[in-house]
Amino acid sequence: MNNQKISHKELVADWHALMRTFIRPENVAAKTTLVKYMEQILFGLHDFLNTHVGITEEVSLKDLSEQFKDTLISENPEEKLADVIANIIEKTAPYAVNVASPYFVGHMTSAIPFFMVHLKTITSALNQNVVKLETSKILSIIEKQVLAKIHRVIFKQSDEFYLEHVQNTRTSLGCFTENGTLANLTALWIARNTQLCPKQEFDGVDKEGIYAAYKAYGIEQSVILVSELGHFSLKKAGGLLGIGNNNIISIGLDSKNRIDLIKLKEEIDKIQNSEHKAKILAIVGIAGTTETGTIDPLRQLGELCSENNIHFHVDAAWGGPVLLSEKYKYLLDGIELADSVTIDGHKQFYMPMTSGMVYFKDPCIMDSIIYHANYVNRRGSVDLGIKSLSGSREANSLILDSALKIMGSKGYALLIEHGIETAKIFADEITNRPDFELITSPELNILTYRVFPKELKMQTAQSEEAQRKINEKLNEINIIIQRYQREAGKSFVSRTTLKTYKGHCENIVVLRCVIMNPLTDMNILRDILDEQEEIYKKTLT
Ligand SMILES: *Cc1c(COP(=O)(O)O)cnc(C)c1O
Repeated sequence: MNNQKISHKELVADWHALMRTFIRPENVAAKTTLVKYMEQILFGLHDFLNTHVGITEEVSLKDLSEQFKDTLISENPEEKLADVIANIIEKTAPYAVNVASPYFVGHMTSAIPFFMVHLKTITSALNQNVVKLETSKILSIIEKQVLAKIHRVIFKQSDEFYLEHVQNTRTSLGCFTENGTLANLTALWIARNTQLCPKQEFDGVDKEGIYAAYKAYGIEQSVILVSELGHFSLKKAGGLLGIGNNNIISIGLDSKNRIDLIKLKEEIDKIQNSEHKAKILAIVGIAGTTETGTIDPLRQLGELCSENNIHFHVDAAWGGPVLLSEKYKYLLDGIELADSVTIDGHKQFYMPMTSGMVYFKDPCIMDSIIYHANYVNRRGSVDLGIKSLSGSREANSLILDSALKIMGSKGYALLIEHGIETAKIFADEITNRPDFELITSPELNILTYRVFPKELKMQTAQSEEAQRKINEKLNEINIIIQRYQREAGKSFVSRTTLKTYKGHCENIVVLRCVIMNPLTDMNILRDILDEQEEIYKKTLT
């Protein structure tokens, strides 16, 4: 931290010192130094990954932030690289969150295979920019190949189809993005542009804007439909695309936390018959909701969309890689009916932060977002940046391509299956414990539950009013338990609030577990429940 700078004799910014940082490791001495630093990073952080578990409150965020109020850039260098690395390892890493701990089961960010660090280092060292061929060459070609591999897993088109498109410079099977948020935005941008496409005198919504589009199409409003459990990135897309995020309409859930098809059909009827002439741009099916991991009925949604000529987007940011498991891919049955699919690389592909992808069934649909610039991406060029929301971006496809080689689809399948199966056993354990209640059982590897002490269970009264009172009390209890456990620093589960409980509207605070670390086993999960029970008994009774 800033007030603990290691003082050096004198560090000055001079040309000679600067040039040394740009010289390549040509001689033995330079190579040795570079290797030494890499070792320092790998083994230093390895210690951090082993010793620090969870999110401790030994030093509070407030105390930490007190130490970071220096807003001046020093004129001369403050530290040499060796000291910078040592300081990060000793003074920064211990206050970061060890998301790789098998006791860290609260979020979708978890352990990554260690080879990912090597692959990430390679992409940094190559420093390619896939916005254009002139700064990436083969990396743009590798991206197209990886996109086709995953496209094939989703859409299962013919050999001829993939031969035609894998390296076709005029068509695109998808695009890498920085994250799932931008993947969803790209998909809905394209849905908007194709649903409000050029016709007669109208040049299309992307050129003329929303107002002109509504006039041309004789509508006053356009909407996107998704279940209550839709990710908030969809709302952002509603804002950015100019349709208004109020027009991302939430549809209620069925008893299994999936979009309620009856309510969905009612909403479609209502919109189509409304006097505010409205157009449905897209229906979003979720393959693995962020909060409960449940999967919408994709086949029925796909059929409904094609009957009504609506763009069908599947947000498989979380669940997409389940398609690699022969055993569980049936859970995503119907995903091939999608017009577009989002998948995150940094979730169940276990890639380092950050990487997302979006896929399109129609290899020409991305033409609706073609942009050119004279200095790059000239008309007729084949640069990937022509059809991509991002400008400059790293060659993340190299990491996925290499990871698929190292793991094979079977390797990924083993990880996915471990998560799903461990979550099922964990759910049984919760059900069998008298002081807990399972709230959403895992369809994939996410489940929610709450502490529900047996003495309160016995009080569960007949009247809805009494039930509501008990739920309020339980909400408080679970908020406190989650916080104390987090602050104790040994393990971490997250907390969210679900809006439906046993079929009616009620806010229920739940503890949420995401099982994706292969080192997370039942012993660890039992420890976590024991700790929660203990916190309840010690502090709340
Ligand atoms: C994580 C997630 C997103 C957003 O992805 P980011 O990579 O965090 O931007 C979107 N949808 C679902 C279902 C997700 O789980």
